[in-house]
Parts: sequence; C-alpha cells; structure tokens
Amino acid sequence: MNIAIDGPAGAGKSTIAKRLAGALGFLYLDTGAMYRAVALKMLNCGIDVTDEKRVKAELDRTVIDVRYENGGQKVYLDGVDVSENIREHRVSKAASDVSALPCVRVKMVELQREIACKRDTILDGRDIGTFVLPNAEVKFFLTATSDERAKRRYAELVLKGANCTLEGIKKDIEQRDYNDSHREFAPLKKASDAIEVDTTDMSIEEVTGYMLDIVNGKKQ
Ligand code: C5P
Repeated sequence: MNIAIDGPAGAGKSTIAKRLAGALGFLYLDTGAMYRAVALKMLNCGIDVTDEKRVKAELDRTVIDVRYENGGQKVYLDGVDVSENIREHRVSKAASDVSALPCVRVKMVELQREIACKRDTILDGRDIGTFVLPNAEVKFFLTATSDERAKRRYAELVLKGANCTLEGIKKDIEQRDYNDSHREFAPLKKASDAIEVDTTDMSIEEVTGYMLDIVNGKKQ
C-alpha cells in the first residue's frame, strides 16, 4: 500500500507522515530531501540551479542515495550524509528552482518509485498523487494558511539557531509555493482523488488521528 501526502511548504507533511508511518509500520520517504540534496550539490559546485545544461551534466556524475538508519531516513550525496546540511535555509530556495528542471525530476521520480514499490510506503512531496504514484491507494493534500505555515517554519528554524525573520520566511514560502505550483513539469497540485486536510487550526494529534482513521478505513 502507498500513501501520498502532497501540499505546500510548511503544511505539516513531514511531521504527520512520520507519525502515520510509525503508527502503520510503513516506510516514510521524504521526497523533498532528494531535491534538496541535488540543490546542495549544485550550490557546492557553484552551478546556477536554473542552468539546465550544467545541472544535467553535474547530475549525471552525482549519486543521491536514501538510506534508513536508526529508524530514520538519511540522505547521502556522493557517499556523504547530508541530512542536516540540506535543511539550511539557502538550500530551500535552490531546491525549488532546481526541482523545476525535468532532468532532475525524472531522475528523482525513478528513485522514488523504486523505493515505493518494495514496501508499504508513505511519500510526501508536491507531485506524489498526481505524477509519482497516480495509483496510490490513499492520497492526501495538506494545506494551511501561509501565515500559519510561516509561523511553523520560523519556530523550527529559530530552534535550530537560524538567523531569520517571520516576514522573511513568509515571503520565501510564498515564493516557493508560487514556483512549485507554476512550473510546467509535475507542478504542485491537488490530485482530483486526494482528500484535502486544512491543518491551520488543527493540532498534530488531531491531523494524525483524522488521517489514520481514513487509512484504516481503506485497509478494511
Ligand atoms: O518538502 P521540502 O520543502 O523539503 O521540499 C523542498 C523543495 O523540493 C520544494 O519547495 C519543491 O520545490 C521541491 N519538491 C518537489 N517535489 C517533491 C518534493 C519537493 O518539487 N515531490
């Protein structure tokens, strides 16, 4: 069984997906981490993330690997664990730009499908229900107002000691959503058969419980 969770940045996808995966005994695949790893590689190499020709050439020499260690997902870039580095703020914007390139998406989607076909998996991203796994048994589309999403992301970053402002985060999130939903290839979009969950005024427990009931209902 595969569960797709799509939605804009900061809607709570990864937090909820991890909890659901724990409760159901499913594997959790954070597909955004893969695009972030590609972005980090290009930043490290000083390559303009909108320059498709150079990105493609570098990508052909790049190995992105998802491993599961101590119950969590780790992302390896050319053999190095970059799971922490990819969370840096500068990587978010670059990930949104680089993920618009078809050559990047094709390579990442192949990897995602390979992982998902081996085990019961929950995948979160932007195009899981519409493009990566259009036949996923359950599809969710998580949303929240951009104010709420910015607040959540800001709190997360402050905890990590990042130097940022709430206004700045909100602007970045809105820009990323715009990029993600306006790209030509596999944009961020609710699948017609996805269940929309507005998490603005819901606690993590409420969202998890609600979604778990739906999944358990489908399993019967
Ligand atoms: O989910 P996260 O915010 O970590 O994703 C970073 C970026 O990767 C997103 O802004 C989006 O541009 C891209 N992404 C994507 N498709 C996915 C997952 C993430 O385009 N399935």
